[in-house]
Amino acid sequence: MSVKVKYSVIVPMYNEEEVIDHTYGRLKEVMDASGDPYELIFVNDGSRDRTVEKTALIASADPNVRLIDFSRNFGHQIAISAGMDYAQGDAIVVIDADLQDPPEIILQMIAKWKEGYEVVYGRRLKRKGETLFKKLTALAFYRLLRSMTNVEIPLDTGDFRLIDRKVCDVLRGLKEKNRFVRGLISWIGFRQTSVEYIREERFAGETKYPLKKMIGFALDAITSFSHKPLKIATYLGFFLSLGSFIYLIVILYQRLFTSTTIEGWTTTVGLSLLFNGIILLLLGVIGEYIGRIYDESKDRPLYIVRETLGYKEHEHAVEE
Ligand code: UDP
Ligand code: MG
Repeated sequence: MSVKVKYSVIVPMYNEEEVIDHTYGRLKEVMDASGDPYELIFVNDGSRDRTVEKTALIASADPNVRLIDFSRNFGHQIAISAGMDYAQGDAIVVIDADLQDPPEIILQMIAKWKEGYEVVYGRRLKRKGETLFKKLTALAFYRLLRSMTNVEIPLDTGDFRLIDRKVCDVLRGLKEKNRFVRGLISWIGFRQTSVEYIREERFAGETKYPLKKMIGFALDAITSFSHKPLKIATYLGFFLSLGSFIYLIVILYQRLFTSTTIEGWTTTVGLSLLFNGIILLLLGVIGEYIGRIYDESKDRPLYIVRETLGYKEHEHAVEE
């Protein structure tokens, strides 16, 4: 029987071959310093490079390392969720593979956890070495999210955080497919606190969040915590109808009581373009929600695992 693991550190990886060795080294150093038994769970999210081979090598040499290898790329948030399914510790830490979140902060998180906090999230004071575009979109995203939703999602926090076993179990019970993990954790509640840190530059490689993934991420975040976009449709519809009604009265008046010639063309084309644009946009909003309802109703598994490494034969990786 192996010793009971106290800490589980989850590391999602997508094409991180350049950083993995270094990340492992830093994490090992920090977690050894914690003085308690721990496991490092590397989740390979369908990388196309040598990430998986490199991690397998690490796992074969270090009994504290586990590898969960996905059958394809399922996305960052799902990789984190999978790590939580496999985690055996009393406290679970999620950290990016690229060392933008300094592993040393984990020890501060653990200290807070020992004080009795059940969620300790990292709040970034500064973001180093990221493009202005990334910083601006991130800034806008967190503010927009805050104004759109009723859940208190702390500003400027990523997925770098520690959660207690209790929180992890509740989270695993939330079966939604389009997951915005940090929002779900806020929604769950419990005693939460933060530690502050400076977000470093990526150690190597480039961001695995191109604009397309960023937009998908933002849409998941907003639609899973807010119905406001749907309400916007209602309000817009209402005001447009009101405007059209008033305009109708104006034209009727002109037609009946004045001799203004009907010029018409620009207004007709202009209005028709405007209204069609708005209608398509609103249909799109509704479509986003319906698509997500459809995803939920299909009830497919969140992810598919090709293989797991680092578990002894008698050990069950996931307890249902
Ligand atoms: N990641 C992942 N699957 C993806 C995209 C990213 O597992 O489809 C991982 C990635 O390897 C990293 C973390 O998610 O560990 C955050 O990604 P990244 O550092 O590229 O995002 P950024 O810091 O630029 O927002
Ligand atoms: Mg990063």
